[in-house]
Amino acid sequence: MAARHDQTTDPALLEALLQARRGTAFFARKLNELTDAELDGDTLLPGWTRRHLTAHIGYNARAIARLIEWAATGVETPMYASTDVRDHEINFGATLSPIALRHLFDHSAVHLNVEWRDLPEDAWHHKVRTIQGREVPATETVWMRTREVWIHAVDLANGATFTDIPAPVLERLLTDITGAWHTRGTDKGLIVKVTGTDLTFGDPTADSPTVISGPLAAAVEWAAGRGHAGVTAVDAEASPAAVPAAPKWI
Ligand code: ZN
Repeated sequence: MAARHDQTTDPALLEALLQARRGTAFFARKLNELTDAELDGDTLLPGWTRRHLTAHIGYNARAIARLIEWAATGVETPMYASTDVRDHEINFGATLSPIALRHLFDHSAVHLNVEWRDLPEDAWHHKVRTIQGREVPATETVWMRTREVWIHAVDLANGATFTDIPAPVLERLLTDITGAWHTRGTDKGLIVKVTGTDLTFGDPTADSPTVISGPLAAAVEWAAGRGHAGVTAVDAEASPAAVPAAPKWI
């Protein structure tokens, strides 16, 4: 009989799983607040309705569950056959009936949770490959899901904000985003300062940088390309400046 509790006993991993589960519950709450007709409405993502976004979150859970099956069995099962297949799946999912869309979200989330729960301790270290081609341990799938459910709950555009996202998740998001800029070399001359903390991200080599400042939630909202409410900018001469668009992240 399958265990009713996580097989892993690693405290850091259990904490990470908790953030993913909380994020999933939060997305579910925001989705359930929407009427069926409101699913036709726009999200914060250009060209995507709430139908597209809900389908994406559902298929994302299935894709991540395939990685966990891979880690468990050693049989390679990619997230998606290709990005075209993924995009086609989302466009198809967006045409489902509201009840089918809601079931897709619910069932895929439960399935992923069972896969995580039943993955043996040692299999969490097995390597799998993301759609971007990165080789990562299965533990990384927890973060991959966490950032999807929290950010896309805000993208549903029915009241969730970045201030709803737990601080540890926000901090890791900012680390990820600024790390992605650094890898691409698009962070040149850009510093992100989180007010009220000693957290600073961005280009450490900049000697006369543009500095973006704001509370953690606002800094992440800007860095993730979701607008610039709540952040301010000063330019290389330390004069107040227009807030630039954040470099692309994904
Ligand atoms: Zn996404």
